[in-house]
Amino acid sequence: MPPSPEDLTLEKLQRWDRAHVWHAFTQMAEYEPFIIERARGCTLVDTEGREYLDGVSSLWCNVHGHRHPRLDAALREQLDRVAHVTSLGASNPTTIQLAKRLVDVSPEGLEHVFFSSDGSCAVEVAIKMSLQYWRQKPSPQNDKTLFLALGDAYHGDTLGSVSVGGVARFHAMFEPLLFEVLRLPTPNAQRPPAGCEDDAGLTYHVAQLEAVLQEHHSRIAAMVIEPMVQCAAGMVMHPPGYLRAVRALTRKYDVHLIADEVAVGMGRTGRLFACEHEGVSPDFVCLGKGLTGGYLPMSATLTSTEAWNAFLGEYADSKQFFHGHTFGGNPLCAAVALATLDVFEEEQTLAKLPARIARIAEQLAPLREHRHVGNVRQCGMIAAVDLVQSRTTNEPFPWEEKRGLQVCHEALKAGVWLRPLGNIVVVMPPLAVAENEIDRICQAVCQGVAAATATTIAK
Ligand SMILES: *Cc1c(COP(=O)(O)O)cnc(C)c1O
Repeated sequence: MPPSPEDLTLEKLQRWDRAHVWHAFTQMAEYEPFIIERARGCTLVDTEGREYLDGVSSLWCNVHGHRHPRLDAALREQLDRVAHVTSLGASNPTTIQLAKRLVDVSPEGLEHVFFSSDGSCAVEVAIKMSLQYWRQKPSPQNDKTLFLALGDAYHGDTLGSVSVGGVARFHAMFEPLLFEVLRLPTPNAQRPPAGCEDDAGLTYHVAQLEAVLQEHHSRIAAMVIEPMVQCAAGMVMHPPGYLRAVRALTRKYDVHLIADEVAVGMGRTGRLFACEHEGVSPDFVCLGKGLTGGYLPMSATLTSTEAWNAFLGEYADSKQFFHGHTFGGNPLCAAVALATLDVFEEEQTLAKLPARIARIAEQLAPLREHRHVGNVRQCGMIAAVDLVQSRTTNEPFPWEEKRGLQVCHEALKAGVWLRPLGNIVVVMPPLAVAENEIDRICQAVCQGVAAATATTIAK
């Protein structure tokens, strides 16, 4: 018999959590249960009623806040109709409407939507579609089997997405299982290559890209890129103009551009799609995380009619896309995703962002002077603070010292929940965050940085 709610003590929950739940990207030997029972807006509430501001959008996915009445109602209404319809040869009105809406709001030329359940799969789908396109297009190019990706890229945790990924600490272990990928240096605007000042960083990275394309284009199916910001890499921001140059060069050399907007899409950078900042239309766009406002597991791969046409034919030609997920296009998820897009319009979310973006910048500005802060950077609603041993050398703290985590522990005491990327403190609140909430989040970051860097191990 399941225990009655009275028997379900906090002690039991914590014990079972430690014993039975294997948490993602977490060292379970030292895991301390952090159990959120409820949430509203940008506030999370734990099992003891303690409140925390959600400073990282429940890991980069929440958009309009938790328990948004509009999203909750959409989910309930869909439940009264049907919870699941397969996308294998069948459809439902909600998912159809979502596909149409996504096509309407996305960059030009993206006309077809393939639904999966998570961001990793959205990337896998784009990779497989690209490869299959080159093999099935009117004059096939069967040699196009290579993919081009950036240093420190992160595109998810399934094997295809790990293959195009390049974060050594996450990915090195699985190397024997991965396919070959051509890798470019990380276009980090804050760390231009040696000898490159100002715009020379951009010129260098564009030249590197062109050199690889020139040599290998006949074998490259697609370049995969997180436009504007490589989030998991440590909120690495690209030099302005890089994305536009990538689009121009991939076109010139007849290579697909796959834009992984799983993290940067859905308004996170201040525009609905990050690609809009540089007027870019990719061949494939991957959406996830915020697609359902961060409510439910759903992702989407959008592509062009040119790509789609290569998959059309007689049944016996077997040209269809041989890929699908049981819950791809699930109508409960689709209902919430549709409502998420509605709320963008009804609440004029994007129009309200510039004030919030400016507020984050203003509130984090004092950190720019801090002796253990190497850099404070921001792209829309994504901000990052680099913790360093010394500003002059810009050398990060040894990662084993977990300085980023220490900042987050301090912030938690002040009622703000954050999760770092090593020595990088991330501020990425839901788009719906209020200005006074921004102040509290950023103040907790400032105090956390002060406390976590107060003790430096003498060397
Ligand atoms: C989170 C993320 C993914 C993976 O999405 P999941 O839903 O976790 O599989 C892929 N690409 C980027 C850029 C991401 O940030």
